Amino acid sequence: MNRIIPTGQVSHKQGFYLGWLKSLGVDTRRLTEEQCEKAAEPPDSDGCEKLRKVTALVVHHSATGEGSAEAFRVLHRLVNRWRDVGYHHVIGNGTHTQDGLLEAGRPEHLRGAHARGANDFALGICLVGNFNMTHPTKRQMATLSGLLTRLMKAHGLAEKDILLHRQVPGSSTECPGKNLTLDRVLHSIGEQSDSI
Ligand SMILES: [Zn+2]
Repeated sequence: MNRIIPTGQVSHKQGFYLGWLKSLGVDTRRLTEEQCEKAAEPPDSDGCEKLRKVTALVVHHSATGEGSAEAFRVLHRLVNRWRDVGYHHVIGNGTHTQDGLLEAGRPEHLRGAHARGANDFALGICLVGNFNMTHPTKRQMATLSGLLTRLMKAHGLAEKDILLHRQVPGSSTECPGKNLTLDRVLHSIGEQSDSI
């Protein structure tokens, strides 16, 4: 089957999604690659719950070595049984997509599924990688700071409105890993605005 590879997407071979799901420990016996390919495409958003007002931006890691918006869409739709990928934005690490590539996940005007307790008011941004084991790449941090700057401006937010997933009240997660701290995120934004 010939797939159309979106710009920036690293081409992949047949069995790609099933192989990736298996690497996460998912039982794939009832799934086919064709189902995965179909699930990787953005669903119709008719009737989806809207995100009324954005008052926070939540930063995540994927806790996987590899991934992309499409791969997470497959996982979230076929395994979690969600309507779409949970995150609004995904930043690649050079595995499934180019290092630092920004991909759209769930449309920004729809309520996401990424941080219990914050989905009603927050956009979710996911950097591919497990930052308990590795560090975000320079390009990922540059993309993240550009995106946060744009979203703060668009929604009238300040740096205090940026949260790591583990800082969301009531959360019990290490996300986005010990190697991605709020200081590091805010520092990258500072660096970017200094260079303008
Ligand atoms: Zn998270």
